[in-house]
Amino acid sequence: MKYFLIFGPPGAGKGTQSTLIARRYNFRHISTGELLRKEIAKKSEIGKIAAVLIEKGEFVPDDLVIGIVRDEICNPDTPERGFILDGFPRNTFQAIALDGMLEEIGFKVDAVLSLETTDSVNIKRIQHRANIEGRKDDADFETIRTRIKTYHKVTEPLVAYYKNQGKYKAVNGDQTVEENFMDICKIIDKSLDE
Ligand code: ADP
Repeated sequence: MKYFLIFGPPGAGKGTQSTLIARRYNFRHISTGELLRKEIAKKSEIGKIAAVLIEKGEFVPDDLVIGIVRDEICNPDTPERGFILDGFPRNTFQAIALDGMLEEIGFKVDAVLSLETTDSVNIKRIQHRANIEGRKDDADFETIRTRIKTYHKVTEPLVAYYKNQGKYKAVNGDQTVEENFMDICKIIDKSLDE
């Protein structure tokens, strides 16, 4: 089983690329953002907590998100060849938790596919998405700014974390969807050959 992470700031196109990857390689796409939005729609306890925080552009507590990911990853009857994790980990604590979780089941993170983008491009993409998907956290400029600021402060240090492990693979995320996907496929193909 292969485990890939898609990494990058809000609006980089992680969800779009993950969908394409999952389809081409028959991987299971795990998006913590999507899973949390499902909890919100169900009005579960987790959903109630997540709704308030997501709307403000803040993180959902680590233990809740880690629990959700654990349920998905440790589900033994998945027919797929691998996983694409999208939106997780988002800080060092989550990254260490993921390493531990995978170690327990005898696996590791194979590669981190990082969409390196500029903030102005991310903001434009989020504002465009706001008109299509109607997400509350995409609608307000201050919320978008909070999310991008948090990315630089809390999530970006993971670049060094994964570079140190030799797993960090950068893609120029400012390109088109198709160009990004081509670059990502080259990295995945190489990793699957190893
Ligand atoms: P984006 O990457 O565009 O911000 P996501 O759908 O990945 O969109 O995430 C939406 C929101 O869900 C985040 O702003 C955050 O509030 C919450 N969230 C998603 N993943 C995590 C995570 N790993 N840890 C904490 N909060 C998360």
